[in-house]
Amino acid sequence: MPRPTSGPWASDCARTAFARGSSPDYDRWLAHVLHAGECTRPIRLTGRIDTVNTATGEITASTPTATLPDGVVYASCGNRRATACPACSAVYRADTYQLITAGLIGGKGIPDTVTTHPVYFLTLTAPSFGPVHSQRATGPKTTPTGHGTRARTCRPSRRPRYCAHGRDLRCNRVHADGDPMLGRPLCLDCYDHDHQVTFNVMAGELWRRTIDHAAKALRRLRVRASFAKVAEMQTRGVVHFHALIRLDHLDSDPDHPMPPPAGTDPEQLRAILLEAAAHTAFTTPGHTDKPDGWVITWGQQVDCRAVRAGNDVTEISERAVAAYLAKYATKSTEDTGHLSARITEATIGIHTDPATHVGRLIAACWHLGRPGAQVELDAPDRISFARLRRWAHMLGFGGHFSTKSRRYSTTLTALRAARKTWRRRQARPDLDHARRDEDLDGEDTTLLIGHLTYAGTGWHTTGDALLATTAAARAREQHQTARDELTHQLGQHHQEPAA
Ligand SMILES: [Zn+2]
Ligand SMILES: [Zn+2]
Ligand SMILES: [Zn+2]
Repeated sequence: MPRPTSGPWASDCARTAFARGSSPDYDRWLAHVLHAGECTRPIRLTGRIDTVNTATGEITASTPTATLPDGVVYASCGNRRATACPACSAVYRADTYQLITAGLIGGKGIPDTVTTHPVYFLTLTAPSFGPVHSQRATGPKTTPTGHGTRARTCRPSRRPRYCAHGRDLRCNRVHADGDPMLGRPLCLDCYDHDHQVTFNVMAGELWRRTIDHAAKALRRLRVRASFAKVAEMQTRGVVHFHALIRLDHLDSDPDHPMPPPAGTDPEQLRAILLEAAAHTAFTTPGHTDKPDGWVITWGQQVDCRAVRAGNDVTEISERAVAAYLAKYATKSTEDTGHLSARITEATIGIHTDPATHVGRLIAACWHLGRPGAQVELDAPDRISFARLRRWAHMLGFGGHFSTKSRRYSTTLTALRAARKTWRRRQARPDLDHARRDEDLDGEDTTLLIGHLTYAGTGWHTTGDALLATTAAARAREQHQTARDELTHQLGQHHQEPAA
């Protein structure tokens, strides 16, 4: 939250905040911006907003934004990444948590009978592309079980071990968490950056084929897999996936999923998932630099844990796994120390320092993605090398960081729509608290349709940002207090993800 401390910025903030606060229009302005108040860089829109009666189709009111404070509508940027906008990222994380939880225990339109379905937590990592500094953990370093694995000596050896470039490939250090050495290759020249960025750009396709492979085997048992997955960028700059896989009866109505047929052995389901991860592989289209293409497979580190299987045999808790996935959904390439602005012909030069691992990865994306380098031109776009340039700022990974299968649970869009409805109800003091929540899922009779165009990004002044943020934070606290009180009265346990 912007806070005046010292220096010229502070005085500018205080001056503009005072100017806004002392204007006669202040209360109206604050009410107008409050819903986007905590956003770091809200989007400003101009145009008009029509109020439509959905029963008759009649436009009952039309408001030009010119008549509103500042002449614009403020919308939250909605950015998923915590480094871009902490407030919007927190909303995204909470929404992701909600939809993952709904798929696990029901709610938001998913029947609570899903609690009887087996659920597995699958982690798929990339293979090795060369030795890197690591903590030599035996499993994923922090898992939803909460058991962090102990860090060990990186690459111990008494005698030096030289590579073809004359570099010593041993490391007798124990790397602490957050050590910038972690994930860095021991020799940048030995490391296969080309193969790694190709893995990143093809990872979504490998996932798709893996799920297809598993689905075929599951179908024979009359079982269908629904999943929610997140992609995580490891410190070495390669993507890996965490997926929560719920198993449903193949023949059940997708809107009312039923548990797998009676007598289905949960261990057999787990074996099918592991087998799909171990045996799914494909070769990329040919490339001028590698005419036979690169082989794309998962690494050895495949992990599949039961969240629920058989008679309540639980290795990890449902809430922990949902919070874990939601947390990763708001991360991006931050862990590799690279920011996510798209790279262009004009900016590529400043991102390709050959002395750094990330520089080499971005250079590999740009080089392999050059026009005309792909040999097979009829390959589908999703396995095309041209995508490497478009996603060079993501080290080649062009997929979504958080996805789910259609049947897993509700969607982020549905959650956002529900929240908008709630906001509209909130603006109507004639509805009491209980009614308001009841109305959430009810039919709306009025609809707001915006005919808006982009006018700009961000707050007009640092003072505006301070006032909007402070007011929105206060409103959120009051809302939380009211909800806690209501929850307490109803005697319900209302759990939220840990911040
Ligand atoms: Zn935002
Ligand atoms: Zn090391
Ligand atoms: Zn070397």
